[in-house]
Formats: sequence, C-alpha cells, structure tokens
Amino acid sequence: MTKSALDLDLSDWKIWAQEHNFPRYLAKQIYQWIFHKNSLNPSYFTNLSLPIREKLSTSFYWELFTIDSHLISSDKSKKILLKTRDNLLVEMMLMPYDKRITLCISSQVGCKMGCTFCQTGKMGFKRNLSTGEILAQIHLANSILQQGEGGKKVTNVVFMGMGEPLDNYEAVIKACRTIIHPDGFGLSKSRVTLSTAGVVPQIRKLAQDLPVCLAVSLHAASDVKRSKMMPINRRYSLEELKKALLDYAGPSRKSVTFEYVLIEGVNDSIKDAKDLVRYLHGFKAKVNLIPINHFPGLEMRPSETERIRAFQSYLSARSIPCPVRYSRGQDVSGGCGQLAAKRKEEVLHDPRTVHRRKRLLSRVKSSKVESQA
Ligand code: SF4
Repeated sequence: MTKSALDLDLSDWKIWAQEHNFPRYLAKQIYQWIFHKNSLNPSYFTNLSLPIREKLSTSFYWELFTIDSHLISSDKSKKILLKTRDNLLVEMMLMPYDKRITLCISSQVGCKMGCTFCQTGKMGFKRNLSTGEILAQIHLANSILQQGEGGKKVTNVVFMGMGEPLDNYEAVIKACRTIIHPDGFGLSKSRVTLSTAGVVPQIRKLAQDLPVCLAVSLHAASDVKRSKMMPINRRYSLEELKKALLDYAGPSRKSVTFEYVLIEGVNDSIKDAKDLVRYLHGFKAKVNLIPINHFPGLEMRPSETERIRAFQSYLSARSIPCPVRYSRGQDVSGGCGQLAAKRKEEVLHDPRTVHRRKRLLSRVKSSKVESQA
C-alpha cells in the first residue's frame, strides 16, 4: 500500500479499473464516493461488489491527516492544525459567513518565498503537499461541517494557508480539477481562489490551464520597497507581474484581487497609496487592506486606525474598492503559519521533548568520545 486514494483523479481511476479488469464505469462511482459523497471508507461504497471494496481497502491508504488541535475563534472561525503521516504540521481554517463557508487551505509545509512579514515564510520550506493532502483538507472540513452544521459543505476554497500554491503547480492544479469537477467537490471555478506572491511564469501557465480566481499578494507598489518585503520581487519585477496579470485578466478585464498588508511606517503612507493607484491603472481591481496580524518575534506593527482610514480614503476616492479586512480568527493564531509555529514552539519546549533532546545529545557526545578514543 503506497498510494493515497485521494491522489487519483477520474482518469487515474479509469486506468486502475482497467488494470484490474474491473468495468470502466466503476471509476466514476469510486470518484463520486470519495469526493462528491465525501466518504473515505470503502466498506460504505454500497453500489460496489464486496471484492472491489476489499481491493480498494487494501490497495490504498485513506487517511492522510490526524487532527493535532482544533481551535474555535470568537468570530466562529475554526483553525485546525493537521499532522501529516510524516509528522509535519499543516494549517487550515474554516470561516463561516452568512451565505458561504470558506475554507482556507495550505499547499506546502512551510514556504520558500521568505516574505518578511509572514510567519510561514520564517519557518522555511519543508515539502510540497501532495494532491491528496490538498484535497484531504476539504474532505476533513466537510466531515466536520456534516457533524456539526447539519450537512453543510464548504462553498469556497482559497489557497491562502501555508505555502505558495504556484510553487507546487502540478499538485495544486490536479487538486483544483477535482475541486471543480461535477463528480468531485463540484464547486464552480469562481469559488476557487489561488493566492500568489507573483510567480510570473506560473501565472501565465495557469491562464492556459485553469483560469480560476487569482489573488495577488502585492503589499507595495514600488520595486525597491516590495523587493525588501518580498524577495520574489527581485526575480519578477512589478512591471513583469503587471503584464502577466493583465494578460490573465484578458480582454474582458476579469477582476483581480490584490492583498495589501498595512504595516506601520513601512507601506502605509499616502505616497504608497499613490504608487498603488498608479500600479492598478488598467485593472478592474479590488484591494483587500489587511492590517498586519502581529505575532511574537515580529517587529512590524499594524498601521494606526487613522493611517488606515487615510490610505483607504485615497483609494476609494479613485473608485478602487478597498475593504479593510481584519484577519479572521486572530484569537486563535489566525494568520498563515502562526498556529503551526506556536505548536512547534510548544513541542520544542515540552519537558518530554527537552528530555529526549538531552538524551540524544549525550548519546552523540559519548559516541564522539568513543570514536576519538
Ligand atoms: S506570504 Fe505567502 S508566499 Fe510569502 S512567505 Fe508567506 S506563505 Fe509564502
């Protein structure tokens, strides 16, 4: 048993059925059970014969995560910390609104992009999540909702958790295809958003492959400033990014969402707002203004209310929609990577871990002494 059942898409299941001399129509039934009916227990796949159910149970593993912790915010957001089969921590956040339930998911453990204001960026990069691990987050969220919210399901998926989704392109795209497939999770393309720091070649590729909604982490509209905050800007300048985004928006000028964290004294002046307005010329843009979510060890502070208002008024006066969005679940380490980092800290300072580390260290020391002798 080496593979997760959630890694397979409909065409993979067709191949699997053919290889085992099962009828091809079986592929659709299995795919529907897993994603559309949200079941990960083949013994419940009642329209399949017993030998097929047994074959499924023994050929794949079905559980990809265990829940490490589960915190509920005063704004009803649920932050869920998951543990992978290789003991890594991954975050997802379930955010109920009046008419929709949005799930924010992760695409990597850690991130290579190193944005200076982001806790995940500070963690460094561990590994990409597989397609199955990306989809398992939606699966788990639906199961939680079905238990507690009377059969409700996730209505919107945003890739704004840990990682840069376009840096894990193949796995993310394969997952997106199942998210929007009518026999998969069945969401419309307009309800799936990829948030990117601006990986230009992959934005161009995405336009060809699967043009879902795009949110761009901009945070500054001058190259000097943005390069200091986001190292990726040294690779792909604002101008290159703008060209790719305008092409992505196409002749119909599909709207693009820009994320802009407001950091006291860093990117929140009227001069910054002017740069931003100039940069957005030509776009049908919406800007989410997000006062930075402070976390321990971060020297940056969220902008004062007055500065936020002035910045927002400058944009609004130029007809740019720019709601101020406070991160959901702030009381439960809502910002991306914050709960995983906090949990890692707890594990590192847990007396059992400290004891294990000491034991390990003394073993290493004694083996060094032995080898020197
Ligand atoms: S903001 Fe996004 S791209 Fe930048 S380090 Fe954090 S997770 Fe990575």
